Amino acid sequence: MKCTICKTGETHPGTTTVTLQRDNSVVVIRDVPAEICENCGEYYLSEPTASRVYADADATAKRHVEVEIQRYAA
Ligand SMILES: [Zn+2]
Repeated sequence: MKCTICKTGETHPGTTTVTLQRDNSVVVIRDVPAEICENCGEYYLSEPTASRVYADADATAKRHVEVEIQRYAA
């Protein structure tokens, strides 16, 4: 699909690192499947992937972990 950020690049399937902040927690999730813009590097997560990543971030925040690095496991 066409990137909606830079409006010139095309996106391609790949993996990215997603960093999310929740209250005082920072969650870094590596190897997340995403569509990535060849031009600006913006990533787009599918709906199920995004839900899963946000749920992981919420769970980490509830444990009051300050920084956590995870690997996305499908
Ligand atoms: Zn782009």
